[in-house]
Amino acid sequence: MRIPLQTGGPNMHSYYTDTPCTWCDGCGDYGIWTAMKRALVELGYHPWQILLCYDVGCHGNGADKTRAYTFHGLHGRVLPFAAGASLANPNVPVIAFGGDGASFSEGVGHMVHSVRSNYPMTFVLHNNANYGLTTGQASSLTWQDQPMNSSPNGIPERTLPSMDFIFSLEPTFVARGFSGNIEQMVRIFKTALQHRGFAYVDILQACPTYNHLATHDWLLSHVYDANSEGHDPSNFEEARRIAVDTTDRISTGILYQNEDIPSFYERLIPRQQRKTTAVEEVERTDVSELMKEFV
Ligand code: SF4
Repeated sequence: MRIPLQTGGPNMHSYYTDTPCTWCDGCGDYGIWTAMKRALVELGYHPWQILLCYDVGCHGNGADKTRAYTFHGLHGRVLPFAAGASLANPNVPVIAFGGDGASFSEGVGHMVHSVRSNYPMTFVLHNNANYGLTTGQASSLTWQDQPMNSSPNGIPERTLPSMDFIFSLEPTFVARGFSGNIEQMVRIFKTALQHRGFAYVDILQACPTYNHLATHDWLLSHVYDANSEGHDPSNFEEARRIAVDTTDRISTGILYQNEDIPSFYERLIPRQQRKTTAVEEVERTDVSELMKEFV
């Protein structure tokens, strides 16, 4: 159901806007933003062929910094919107971006049902382990003892083990990247965009302004590329093991991929005989008479 891949055509300038970047110097958003544009260009997608959906957060300002069809939604609610758009027109690749705060607190219910539904879309987690936009409060992925604004003694709650949580939902695609490794992110994004169902991509992102423990240098010294060390992404149990075990090193790359599970759309019986998409079936209705009641 994807648009046929093209050669040539789009380039990085195709996604350019005049809107100045307002992210802090050294923010990992720059790397993720660049890698996604490169992945889209290398796959041959023009900006008008894709939909980029952003949750609220520092990364969400990317909606203005990227020339494409973009949507900037409510806090924690990017997944239901993006899933709806994907199901309404599965010919358009949909990419949703969310932070660790919104995705694992306000919107955690949407994450559960997006993974189990296997919606045909890509989700990119900007995982900087704090609420950067609101000046550095702890999120559910912040390390428990880490001093943050509004919790200078650390948070009383345990840190949510997000990878174990995601694997418990039996995902069909899980990858992890690092905002300082653009080459690897491009490879991950390109693979995720061609996945049949819900592609969950966790990007460990430096936030030099508020996260002073998981810095760029700290992440750089702890991550390793599991694929280059021979990890087999078809092995669910091993993928889960290396995703969860971050004791000494943090695995990155394509950790798990299963193309045998149909997506949510493919399982919709009423859609299976249809040649058209839902957006093509919407009838135009003249509401001018109705609107007169409100003038
Ligand atoms: Fe990036 Fe952190 Fe600055 Fe937000 S606060 S723009 S996440 S460095």
